[in-house]
Amino acid sequence: MSDRAADKGEGTRAVRAGLPEAAKNEPTLPGPAFAAHFHLPGEVDGPYTYGRDTNPTWNLLESAIGELEAPGQDGVETLVFASGMAAISAVLFSQLRAGDTVVLPDDCYQAMPLVQAQLEAYGIEVRTAPTAGDAQLDVLVGAQLLWIETPSNPGLDVCDIRRLVEAAHARGALVAVDNTLATPLGQRPLELGADFSVASGTKQLTGHGDVLLGYVAGREGGAMDAVRRWRKIVGAIAGPMEAWLAHRSIATLHMRVDRQNATALVLAEALRERPEVTGLRYPGLADDPSHKIASQQMRRYGCVVSFTLPTRARADRFLDALRLVDDATSFGGVRSTAERRRRWGGDDVPEGFIRFSVGAEDPEDLVADVMRALDEARD
Ligand SMILES: *Cc1c(COP(=O)(O)O)cnc(C)c1O
Repeated sequence: MSDRAADKGEGTRAVRAGLPEAAKNEPTLPGPAFAAHFHLPGEVDGPYTYGRDTNPTWNLLESAIGELEAPGQDGVETLVFASGMAAISAVLFSQLRAGDTVVLPDDCYQAMPLVQAQLEAYGIEVRTAPTAGDAQLDVLVGAQLLWIETPSNPGLDVCDIRRLVEAAHARGALVAVDNTLATPLGQRPLELGADFSVASGTKQLTGHGDVLLGYVAGREGGAMDAVRRWRKIVGAIAGPMEAWLAHRSIATLHMRVDRQNATALVLAEALRERPEVTGLRYPGLADDPSHKIASQQMRRYGCVVSFTLPTRARADRFLDALRLVDDATSFGGVRSTAERRRRWGGDDVPEGFIRFSVGAEDPEDLVADVMRALDEARD
C-alpha cells in the first residue's frame, strides 16, 4: 500500500492492507506459499531460503498488520508467530537474561503465570502489580522490561499506556503491550510510545475461531532483530495456510470490530438493568472504571463484556440456556461465545464470573437470547 493510503479511512486500509502491487493475471491476494525450502542455487541470498526463516505469505500478512498497528510510520517491523504465546515468549525470552528484572501485570492472561515461573527458573526477577490504577509504576525501578496488558483479560481494567511508557523509558526499561483484546483498530500502542505491540491473532484479529496466530510489531533495530532470531531458534512459526487465512480475515476486520463492539455496548447496557448481574465491566460504558483512560487511548472498546452471576450453579444454568452463544473459551469470533472463567482455575475471579465475547449476530437477537437465558437461570 502506498504512503498515501495511511490517510485513508480505517475500513479502506483494512480491506487493502498488505496487498502486493496489482499485476496483470495475478490474484489480488496470492494464495499460501507451501514451501519448506526455496530454490537456492549458489550463494545463500535473496528473500526466501528456508521455510523457518521467511515465507512470502507471512511477509504479506506482516505488512498488513504493520499497516494497521502503525499507519504511516516508517521503520516498523512486524513478525508473525504460531500463536499469541509464541509471540509473547519471543519478546520476553529474547529481551531478558539472567539477573534482569521484568514487571508483569498480576491480572494478565492466564498462561502468563506459567511464563513467570519459566522466567524465574532462568534467573530473571519477576515483579507483578495490578493493571488498574497504573500500579505497575510503583515497581519499575531497576526493571529492563515492562509488560502491559490493557484492557486486561478477563477483568477489563485499563492502564494509561503513555504514562507507563514515559516512566519506564525514563528508567531505561523497554515496554511491551499485549494488544490482543483491543486489536490494532482499537488501540495503537506504538503510537503511544511502546516498543512492542504484541498480540494473539487467534482472537478478534482473525475472528473466525479457526486459526491460532500471534505477532510482534516494533521499531526496526536490535530489539526486533533479537525477536526475529528467537523465532528462528525456537521455530514457533505460523503455517502458510494460517497466515493466509489471517490475511484474508483482516479484510473484514473493520466491519467485524465495528459491529461486534457496537453490540457489546448494547449488551452491556441491557445487562446493567438486570438485578442478578453484578461486577459488570465494559470499558465503553461511560461509568465504567476503565472508561476515562480508555476513551483517551482507545478508538474502540472491544467485544468482551464481563459480569458476575450470584452463584456457580446459576452461571452454569445461564450458559446452558443460551442458544445463540457457544459455551467456549477464547473471544473475538463472529459467533458469540461465553464461559464461566473460574472453571480454568487460573484467574482471580468469582465462581459466577462470565466472560462474554460478543459476535456479529443481530444485536436484538443476541440481547433477547441473553435475557431469556438469564430468566431461565433463575432459582
Ligand atoms: C489468547 C490470549 C493470549 C494467547 O494467545 P494464543 O494465540 O492462544 O497463544 C495472550 N494474551 C491475551 C490477552 C489473550 O487473550
